[in-house]
Amino acid sequence: MKGVSPISFMAEHPTHSVETPAQKIFDHTGESLSRCYQCGKCTAGCPMSEEMDITPSRMMRMLQYDDPAMEEEALRSYSVWLCLTCGTCLARCPQEIDIPGVMDFLRTESLRKGMMNPSAKNIVSFQKSFIDSLRLTGMLYEVGLVAGYKARTWKLFQDMSLVPWLFLKGKLNLLPHRVKDRKTVKKIFRETVK
Ligand code: SF4
Ligand code: SF4
Repeated sequence: MKGVSPISFMAEHPTHSVETPAQKIFDHTGESLSRCYQCGKCTAGCPMSEEMDITPSRMMRMLQYDDPAMEEEALRSYSVWLCLTCGTCLARCPQEIDIPGVMDFLRTESLRKGMMNPSAKNIVSFQKSFIDSLRLTGMLYEVGLVAGYKARTWKLFQDMSLVPWLFLKGKLNLLPHRVKDRKTVKKIFRETVK
């Protein structure tokens, strides 16, 4: 046990049938957040930190407590939806903690537990429409993405004046292009969306 923090040990040696927040994060991301020593470099470099309700370093600190109430606060935060997965925090972290991976896990958990921050509704609608586009064609289908987003958010006429210009410039195709290897796309979704 010498040199191993209690959170690391618990994450790597689960003894209870109900997983603690730290165990879940370790199982899904391979990260032991007890390694974070709160230098703040991730937050200093994060392009979204000023908009976030919980900065990346504070998020790591909250999760270090391994406390379900703290976990719930993280899952209900707006920050998990503002994270761009740009990787700047990971590149700056002296401990190489995969914060984007942790944020991604928190997003998935937030949706699964119905704890999505109400301010993130449009972001989630966009994300779902984007995934639908990938599922359908294997690539980005802009018209389908926009139609899906508008249907989900009821922003039916927003930015409609741009549509003719986009068609004229060839930026929108009515019919989708599809990747040839559809089987692989289906397999990826089967393996990853469970
Ligand atoms: S950069 Fe790494 S060690 Fe520093 S606060 Fe952020 S996660 Fe913790
Ligand atoms: S990956 Fe997310 S948390 Fe990290 S720097 Fe980018 S926006 Fe900030």
